[in-house]
Amino acid sequence: MRLILLGPPGAGKGTQSARLEQKYGIPQLSTGDMLRAAVKAGTPIGQKAKAVMESGGLVSDEIVIGIIADRIDEADCAKGFILDGFPRTVAQAEALTKLLKQKGRDLDAVIELLVDDGILLSRIENRARETVAAGGTVRADDNPEAFKKRLAQYHEQTAPVSGYYKSIGELRTVDGMAPIDEVTKQLDAVLAK
Ligand code: AMP
Repeated sequence: MRLILLGPPGAGKGTQSARLEQKYGIPQLSTGDMLRAAVKAGTPIGQKAKAVMESGGLVSDEIVIGIIADRIDEADCAKGFILDGFPRTVAQAEALTKLLKQKGRDLDAVIELLVDDGILLSRIENRARETVAAGGTVRADDNPEAFKKRLAQYHEQTAPVSGYYKSIGELRTVDGMAPIDEVTKQLDAVLAK
């Protein structure tokens, strides 16, 4: 099963992807996680991405499309994958369509988690507090200033991605403001169709 989870930062894409990964035995491909790993490892891509990520901006389409093109060719993606955080621009979505077509593959579902802006900032503040309480390191972009930029970026560049999938009849939506288990149930229901 090949699917995409769309939604603003803090919508719960990571949490739900991890559950879907368990249930369907397919990997969660988070471009954010891959880029953070590249920054940590100090690779050439990581060095290019570091500052823009910390400020809440978007890494170039070229870089993330290249990362995904390589990643979906790996053996663990043979049965499918869950894309989390990609595509984030219409150019990325178009590139993905082309890439899958070249490989003779199709998407099974594109699902958007709908969450109001007002709820997102408090979720990110909670995520930072919980990470600190668990002894972890807070993401460099989980602060109110960078978060506001990420949200603005989302409305400008990523919200049109939903429009793209809607226009080709592939978009499904789920209430991302419901409790976590309820969102999982709604996702299962959409995927069972
Ligand atoms: P995330 O973990 O999905 O919130 O991503 C964290 C950061 O990584 C984003 O704010 C961007 O700077 C960068 N990033 C992740 N995915 C993409 C993407 N598909 N396109 C551009 N930048 C991305």
